[in-house]
Amino acid sequence: MHTSSICVTSHHDPRQGVVQPLSTSSSYYYVDEGPQPYPRYFNTPNQVAVADRIARLEQAESGLVFSSGMAAISTTLFALLKPGDHVVMLKALYGGTHDFVVNQFNQWGVEYDFASTTVEDILSKCRPDTKLIYVESPTNPCLEVLDLDSLATTARQRKLLTICDNTFASPINQRPLTFGLDLVVHSGTKYLGGHSDLSCGAVIGSQVLIDQVTRAARRFGGNLGASDCHLLDRSLKTLDVRVTRQNENAGRIAAFLEAQPQVKQVHYPGLASHPNHALAARQMSGCGGMLSFELQPDLSAVRFLQQLQLAVPAMSLGGVDTTLCIPARTSHAAMPADERAACGVSDQLLRVSAGLEHEQDLIADFDQALHACARPLAAAAS
Ligand SMILES: *Cc1c(COP(=O)(O)O)cnc(C)c1O
Repeated sequence: MHTSSICVTSHHDPRQGVVQPLSTSSSYYYVDEGPQPYPRYFNTPNQVAVADRIARLEQAESGLVFSSGMAAISTTLFALLKPGDHVVMLKALYGGTHDFVVNQFNQWGVEYDFASTTVEDILSKCRPDTKLIYVESPTNPCLEVLDLDSLATTARQRKLLTICDNTFASPINQRPLTFGLDLVVHSGTKYLGGHSDLSCGAVIGSQVLIDQVTRAARRFGGNLGASDCHLLDRSLKTLDVRVTRQNENAGRIAAFLEAQPQVKQVHYPGLASHPNHALAARQMSGCGGMLSFELQPDLSAVRFLQQLQLAVPAMSLGGVDTTLCIPARTSHAAMPADERAACGVSDQLLRVSAGLEHEQDLIADFDQALHACARPLAAAAS
């Protein structure tokens, strides 16, 4: 079945209504044999239905939904790792995941190394006790693309587990499990939820691995409530149309920005100038709704944000509104300036999450903000 059909079709009995009913019970009939539904067992009707839809979108056997992306990520890592294990992760990791690794791994005796966004560098960091490789592609905020096919092949030869955070791409643009990676994790708070009004997460993979994660998840208890499952499932019905439009808008904004003298560089895998453009074209069916760009050194990113009239300066991403942030002041604020510079995050870098507005309105807004922030302050104020 095509992705757009998986987004909308449901497996419940249509005599209950076109939409799967919202089942809010936390207590279920007990006399029957077999495991009873219970929210923290991750097996209530709405939890199962939405996890199943996400699994089908990622072309996987099974999935599990959580109350946040970090609940999905932390539970998955806790479920698979034990003291003495070593993990290789990308340097360009989502800030919350980086913080989790740096502050929790030592506590259970799990060791780790960070690698740059190439398979060669990841493999060079692997040791005999390495158990797992954890990656993201495209990365935040510079949109580097990692060769997932080559990563999966080499990791399998060495019997290493692989996990990919697929939040930025969404399953509409990229399905890492089809390249042979073992697990995908999502912050559903972003594209899957897609309306900036829901916190949730997911892990997807083979039945055997998801069973292992489920056992830990029932102990940790980061389950998603029935109403949020229902809202997430409703959001998924438009995932394909939303992301398709967001891909188009991001591509148009990137091409516009690249041609402007006030812009030093644009990072978007859909641009021919992007160093990983050919790889992105091979492994992604769309290049995504995220891009970032660097203003010329004499221009202020803060002033650019202040001039915007349609796009919203806001944290987070993946919603229907176009939002922008300055990574040096948000996701990378805690990082020392020299480390930040080493991963390409200057004070002039802006990250864009393209929404669903009309491309001409967005480009007009970016255009006026670029002109306004290039004017001397006194002129801008008058
Ligand atoms: C937001 C995000 C997370 C964390 O998700 P929460 O829902 O905020 O817990 C993890 N990975 C990526 C890439 C993200 O953007």
